[in-house]
Amino acid sequence: MAKLAIAGGRPELRVRWPKWPVRDRHEERALLRVLRSGLWYRGENVRKFEEGFARFQAAGYGVTCNSGTAALEISLAVLGVGRGDEVIVPAYTFVATAGAVLRVGAKPVFADILPENLCIDPADVARKMGPRTRAIIPVHFAGHIADMDRLKKLARRKGVHIIEDACHAWGSRWRGKGAGAIGDCGAFSFQVSKNITAGDGGIILTDDESLAGRLRNFTNVGRKKGGAWYEHYTTSTNARMTEFQAAILGEQLKRLGRQTMKRQANARILDRGLAAIPGIRTVVTDPRHTRRAYHMYCFRLDLERLGTTRSRFLSALSAEGVPCTAGYGIPLYANPLFTGKKGGAGVPSRGAPCPEVERVVRDCCWIMHQNLLAPGSAMRGIVRAAAKVADHSAEL
Ligand SMILES: *Cc1c(COP(=O)(O)O)cnc(C)c1O
Repeated sequence: MAKLAIAGGRPELRVRWPKWPVRDRHEERALLRVLRSGLWYRGENVRKFEEGFARFQAAGYGVTCNSGTAALEISLAVLGVGRGDEVIVPAYTFVATAGAVLRVGAKPVFADILPENLCIDPADVARKMGPRTRAIIPVHFAGHIADMDRLKKLARRKGVHIIEDACHAWGSRWRGKGAGAIGDCGAFSFQVSKNITAGDGGIILTDDESLAGRLRNFTNVGRKKGGAWYEHYTTSTNARMTEFQAAILGEQLKRLGRQTMKRQANARILDRGLAAIPGIRTVVTDPRHTRRAYHMYCFRLDLERLGTTRSRFLSALSAEGVPCTAGYGIPLYANPLFTGKKGGAGVPSRGAPCPEVERVVRDCCWIMHQNLLAPGSAMRGIVRAAAKVADHSAEL
């Protein structure tokens, strides 16, 4: 095989990778319409986007808010999770999943993930449930839906809530049902790195009308439908989304279906190609998915077999022209927030260590979603580059 680009050889790919966020005249026009209308909050754009996004996920109700983090916090608070309670979260996730638990005064309990799909392991959840467990927050990691059949059965038996962290899963469906309304409710983020974005923003989906009403009141300073403007009923906050954000999201939503299908088709090319390379392991999509979002494409390295480190492998892959990163470098519980090291708060949690998470933070590689919007030929290029680097990995 040819010489590696990192050793002076010719790069395998020369692709102009797609930029993110995607936007055009439609966003510009929608923004100007809001600007000129003077109606900058709680108008038609927010209402239409809530309906449109809920429909896109086959959910009954959508309540917008200002971030995915807020969506998780608000869900926990409204479901009555608080001081003295425990909430089970995976240890391979963004800080917000556990951070929201801390913000309502509860304790995060870290569960391990399954090696085949990087989502929370229902058997470990069952082991770590205790008398104080009030909720489970499965993360649909990279867009792969956690095993909701087993989690729901478990939650029903123990009488605990399920809040889906669907902040990677806009568009994912499990047996035809969209992520976010499979459990009690689900949280989505529209931060700028996400597959649909307004810079920041969030939404909570649910099929429960009464819960939707309580979620809305919570985001709107405790007001009640039909109540007077200065009449407030519940402990709450202001987490409202503006019309500017909703106008942009409305345009972004029109592209999301097509983009989701494109990423899914490209991921299939990567699945087939990468699975055939000795030293590389792919993540298997559970066949109960009827559609699958990709916030990123994940694959894992068999470092022993490759005889190198992930960092060297990624440098070589990058030199070949492939945009690829390591993702989370440590389990969530190894952050100063939990360990108390390096001046971190050292807040209480339990459940660590999680052996599979300890492995995946060392051997996982991420290709972010915007790159999955490139042509299929670019995916085949990624496969060739990965095969080339794997073939030369012992020399790295
Ligand atoms: C992005 C993200 C969040 C938080 O979303 P923000 O809108 O940035 O607050 C929560 N959970 C996961 C898994 C995420 O990736």
